[in-house]
Amino acid sequence: MIIQDKEFGEVIVRKNALSSHVKFSVSTSGRLQMSVPKYTPDFLVKKYLKSSREQIRSKLNLKDPSTQRARDAKKKILMKQAKEYLPYRLKYLADKFGYEYDNFRVSHASTRWGSCTRHGKDGSTTISLNIGLMQVPEVLRDYVIIHELAHLNHMDHSSSFWAEVGEHDPKYKFHRKKLQMFSPGV
Ligand SMILES: [Zn+2]
Repeated sequence: MIIQDKEFGEVIVRKNALSSHVKFSVSTSGRLQMSVPKYTPDFLVKKYLKSSREQIRSKLNLKDPSTQRARDAKKKILMKQAKEYLPYRLKYLADKFGYEYDNFRVSHASTRWGSCTRHGKDGSTTISLNIGLMQVPEVLRDYVIIHELAHLNHMDHSSSFWAEVGEHDPKYKFHRKKLQMFSPGV
């Protein structure tokens, strides 16, 4: 069962024959997970959650609401910067290296820095760039943009793809490695 909680978002509740008491953990997807004895009625589950807020915050070190608000505010600022800066930089590098794309999109997925998609219907292309790019050094940001532009000619990570990336960013191997020190999630 999943409970919608104002503070913790989606809470996954597992009724477990083996648990003798209520236990809190964080699932791999980052959601709060609650394990309760099998025959615990739903109203009690909600009551436990309500009375354990302090314990959950401190024990699991979850973001408290003010931290969450600060994160949301930061995301908003990055989004604004990204929408102004990224399309301009993308266009600049595309012109410089002779690429043409159709659409640009700002993304905020937590796992990818960018993507390049060719749509089946009309063959139009969309390049997405993550707002998290506003937080990395410019050379790394440019590497990601060049990487996505090179996908316009090679929709894979073949050796010819990398050769093309290397033409425009001779230090791409170093940049690619450096980028792993950062996370696209905000
Ligand atoms: Zn790629």
